[in-house]
Amino acid sequence: MTSRSALPSVDRVLRDPGTGDLVSRFGRSATTGAVREVLADLRAMPVSTEVEIAGIVGRVRTRLDQAARPSIGPVFNLTGTVLHTNLGRASLPAVAVEAMREAASGPVTLEMDLDRGARGDRDTHVAGLLQQFTGAEAATVVNNNAAAVLLVLNTLALRREVVVARSELVEIGGSFRMPDICARAGGRLREVGTTNRVHRRDYEEAIGPKTGLVLKAHRSNFAIVGFTSEVAERDLARLCRDRGVPLVVDLGSGALVGLERWSLPHEPTAAESIAAGACLVTFSGDKLLGGPQAGLIVGRADLIERVRRNPLKRALRLDKVTLAGLAAVLRLYRDPDRLPDRLPTLGQLTRPVADIRAAAERLQPPVASAVGGAATVSVVACESQIGSGAQPTSTLPSAGLAVVPVVEKRRAGAELERLSAAFRALPIPVLGRIQDGAFLLDLRCLDDEDRFVAQLGEMTIRER
Ligand SMILES: *Cc1c(COP(=O)(O)O)cnc(C)c1O
Repeated sequence: MTSRSALPSVDRVLRDPGTGDLVSRFGRSATTGAVREVLADLRAMPVSTEVEIAGIVGRVRTRLDQAARPSIGPVFNLTGTVLHTNLGRASLPAVAVEAMREAASGPVTLEMDLDRGARGDRDTHVAGLLQQFTGAEAATVVNNNAAAVLLVLNTLALRREVVVARSELVEIGGSFRMPDICARAGGRLREVGTTNRVHRRDYEEAIGPKTGLVLKAHRSNFAIVGFTSEVAERDLARLCRDRGVPLVVDLGSGALVGLERWSLPHEPTAAESIAAGACLVTFSGDKLLGGPQAGLIVGRADLIERVRRNPLKRALRLDKVTLAGLAAVLRLYRDPDRLPDRLPTLGQLTRPVADIRAAAERLQPPVASAVGGAATVSVVACESQIGSGAQPTSTLPSAGLAVVPVVEKRRAGAELERLSAAFRALPIPVLGRIQDGAFLLDLRCLDDEDRFVAQLGEMTIRER
């Protein structure tokens, strides 16, 4: 322990001219707090450490700088996963960002009907568009799709049974597990079929007076192949109608338009489920739809009305900023032909591989010079994935840079870690993925090459 007398007092450090500059930048109370913490740390250290005032002020500055740095900030997503949940999923179009900025900065017509001069309903900003694009009678929105599922189950199946196939008891990343959500919603899971097969008769036998709803959940992030069978949505819808129970479909990502028109793999659309006879359909706002985080519920008017009356709806509702952004994104869907140019998610997914490869050729020299002698950098073909549980088994051909450490094989793992840490430590962190002995930068989602290159000079690869 450093003796108390060897260290200056808090007041003495605060009186130092170097600290005055910190007080004007960070405020008195934060600076005083940092001085106390630094002195306490030093006191707990061996005698030999810092007691010079200049050194102490330096430590205080570092501490304050670190605390002032926001922990949430932009990154370059070069992971190859377009809708990356850990990186915030969809990048929003400029019109949505502008609508959100405007909504955030002042009062808006959130629940105000200007024609009547009376209180309005916040759902109206998006419900009409959702009805138009899905063919549903009515629509409502909540915080995310997990909330949508929770709210629907709680509304239709409180103390009742939720009939669902064993092959659809999905777990999505971030601890969304269908059985847990069902339990928290107050429903009782009634599993039918086996892991790989479910038949119409399984549902027939399970549906009874205790049934609240029949649930069909999209197998978002896995596939069951081999000896399998399931009941088509249309057939299940007919059975449910005959037995007088609602069919609810959780699409997960879902889509508002068929992606095959852009030669992408087909993802089920909300309109298809509605046309097949689903009573309610839930899907995400920030997956393939390309908007802000939201949960969309469309379907039969009487059921939507019950959902909206559920007191939980108030706890799960959207704020004005998200609603403004979502409405702006939905308006773009009026002109589907131009969506790839206007909606970043679709632009990224449809980006021609030749275009990505050209970017890789352009960026190879600056990246190679940034890593210096530590690694070789080459242009490679790679595969991107959509992410967020859309099309888990299909990939999109892409291109990128493979950064391979110059080191003998047995040390390669540690070297790759060092390389990826150096990219993460850049002012705008660059996130790639480690694959086949390389740190791989998939360039599909790189939209600002100048910004990417401008910071490469700051790269320092830590010494071994
Ligand atoms: C993604 C997903 C959810 C959760 O949606 P969030 O928008 O992340 O809350 C629920 N169900 C399925 C099938 C999903 O794919």
